[in-house]
Amino acid sequence: MTDTTPNPEPRPTFPRGTILGYPRIGRRRELKRALEAHWSGALDTDSLERAATALRRATRARLVERGLGRLDSSIPESFSFYDQVLDAAVTVGALPERFAGLRAADGTIGLEAYFAAARGTGAHAPLEMTKWFDTNYHYLVPEIGPETRFDLASDRLVRQVAEARADGYTVRPVVVGPVTLLALAKPTDAAGEGFDPLSRLDDVLPVYAELLASLRAAGAEWVQLDEPALVSESLPATPSALAAAAERAYAVLGAAVDRPAILVAAPYAQLSERAWSVLASAPVEALALDLVRGAVPVAAAGLQSKTLVGGVIDGRNVWRGDLASAWDALASLQTLGSAAVAAGTSASLQHVPHDVDDEPDLDPRLASWLAFADQKTAQVATLATGLTEGRRAIEQPLADASAALADRRSAPGVRDGLVRGRIERLTPADAERGDYDARVAAQEAALGLPILPTTTIGSFPQTDEIRRARARHVAGQSSTEDYEQFLRDEIARVVALQEDIGLDVLVHGEPERNDMVQYFAEHLEGFAVTRHGWVQSYGSRATRPSILWGDVSRPAPITVEWSTFAQSLTEKPMKGMLTGPVTILAWSYVRDDQPLGETADQVALALRFEISDLERAGIRVIQVDEPALRELLPLKRGDQPGYLEWSVRSFRLATAGAATATQVHTHLCYSEFDVVIDAIAALDADVTSIEAARSRGEVIDDIAASGFALAVGPGVWDIHSPRVPSVEEVTELLERAVDELPVRRVWVNPDCGLKTRGYPETVASLRHLVEATRTARAAV
Ligand code: GLN
Ligand code: ZN
Repeated sequence: MTDTTPNPEPRPTFPRGTILGYPRIGRRRELKRALEAHWSGALDTDSLERAATALRRATRARLVERGLGRLDSSIPESFSFYDQVLDAAVTVGALPERFAGLRAADGTIGLEAYFAAARGTGAHAPLEMTKWFDTNYHYLVPEIGPETRFDLASDRLVRQVAEARADGYTVRPVVVGPVTLLALAKPTDAAGEGFDPLSRLDDVLPVYAELLASLRAAGAEWVQLDEPALVSESLPATPSALAAAAERAYAVLGAAVDRPAILVAAPYAQLSERAWSVLASAPVEALALDLVRGAVPVAAAGLQSKTLVGGVIDGRNVWRGDLASAWDALASLQTLGSAAVAAGTSASLQHVPHDVDDEPDLDPRLASWLAFADQKTAQVATLATGLTEGRRAIEQPLADASAALADRRSAPGVRDGLVRGRIERLTPADAERGDYDARVAAQEAALGLPILPTTTIGSFPQTDEIRRARARHVAGQSSTEDYEQFLRDEIARVVALQEDIGLDVLVHGEPERNDMVQYFAEHLEGFAVTRHGWVQSYGSRATRPSILWGDVSRPAPITVEWSTFAQSLTEKPMKGMLTGPVTILAWSYVRDDQPLGETADQVALALRFEISDLERAGIRVIQVDEPALRELLPLKRGDQPGYLEWSVRSFRLATAGAATATQVHTHLCYSEFDVVIDAIAALDADVTSIEAARSRGEVIDDIAASGFALAVGPGVWDIHSPRVPSVEEVTELLERAVDELPVRRVWVNPDCGLKTRGYPETVASLRHLVEATRTARAAV
């Protein structure tokens, strides 16, 4: 099977333009509704399948309308019921053993087993979920061990190709490629530590080959294999091991006689040098490169028989593409000597909303600078026309795009002299808080907290009642006065509850916030929010990122009134609650016309003013959440120090104006401390709460080993499930913390906010947390 001679059969030509994938949740989140109805038992499997078919049909029709070809394989078949990684795992039969009983009698994996793996069953935990490269999308982590038996266990993708064919389309099915599938997998429990799922490559390749044959039989002329692992330097496997796996994988798949033509796509960053030379000479027919995050590579052997798809339209952001520079990038791609060049998106459009024209509330001028999936598809189609008919055929759209860009550059608000002046006047001292020991002493005097202080992360359950009240207010069905009274009542209830439970540092519960980023975006200059701009986060969950388009400033205090009201209800310290600059950037679409660090500093300054207003209003503890600090870490190691430099600086800029006696907290929710531990220490927050319970306290070792010298609250309650931890469980984690860290620096808190929890488990768990703490205090 090591024959790598190219397939002699003539291959269909690749279209001149394509997108690497399209949003699958639907313009009105139809998929979310159908899925959730199905899971709740209100929609049977057939009806769910029909809803999905309708969505796929609408997508194909839409893409043709936006300029892709019906029959030239430019339409990707990228639908997923839940996640593309799970789709690939299930297709090759890599379903964990605990779900084996849910396979059909003939061994195939249907929707029931698929959803069980995604969401768990009463008896079995789901696959773990984690971030997809450096995006806000989350995938399910396949579990692969030496015992995993690979077989073609689902023909779902094949059926989708046939379904399209029957409707008169030749689509290009999209599958996560074998290298990425294995590189993202974790070893099964049976495999144990040290097992490398990539070692199963040779076993999974025949199943991929079988899949390719079936796709071709169903009418696919091209298939797209997504291999983003080949751009990453942040995976357990090294770039050179990944490139070696790709060499092997595409030698084998390329040699398969009965297959569609293969496009290997490498979104999210530049291919590693080795992977680029491997793919350039691999027996596949086309390669898609990310030319937004990566540069045009150097010439390489083997390109003369390939199409290069230049990912020149940004699939990660919402700005209208600069077609003139896109055209230039395609022109320089043409100098590499490939058989052909096509225009494409840098990544799947699953990371952007559907349609700018679906946003009646957006300022039309701002809207003219934007492109969501539908507009990006049209831009690709325009470039494709240029590639076929020559640049002259597209002069007008090129000029229009340039004009929009120029308009954006000069529009009021994009650059605000006042904001820029403030930033210029900053000095390094503005990011320094002063001596830690002096802070500890001043805060002890100001707050008088017991040892092992207890607190929560900020939000309390967002009940249906809260959601309904907010929806009524947004829809104009209740007055602002009534809504605010409702919120005050809610805050009063949450404060009384915390006093009753016996917590030491209280929170107001964040009932006024729809989302920890959007809430701030709505109150800051320089941001816009959308009505239908939903983007899949995972499964049926979607978020609506704000659009940060201009210089950021704070026209008025944002949280002060709520925090002050909450503080007025209690003698205990009330924590002011803010979202940090990095997280605000990470969960918004950010401007692409200046370095991220500059934008972060502007957000930081706005927060700095908010902190100063909170202090003036008598708030003595202020938490600035940075759950996305790890998430935004660049895939390339070389880019990481620069990122950590500006992200830490912006946090310090936000918080360093606080008085010595003001206690600054931060919250991070991931337990992979590894690469960011020094950065977290450099944030210089007086207290850091961090997720720990989910990994049974492992992170405590890392903190202790790193010499972290600030106070830290390792989570003692995993809030991701409704399970109530027993007093013993909490005690165990607490003892581990107290054993390994100086007791005076240990805080007691849950892993994260309680927004998604219900009240019964919240109250029971917090009581256990307080009880365990009392016992622990008595013991020290
Ligand atoms: N303060 C926020 C909350 O409690 C933090 C959320 C988060 O870390 N994602 O909801
Ligand atoms: Zn959190």
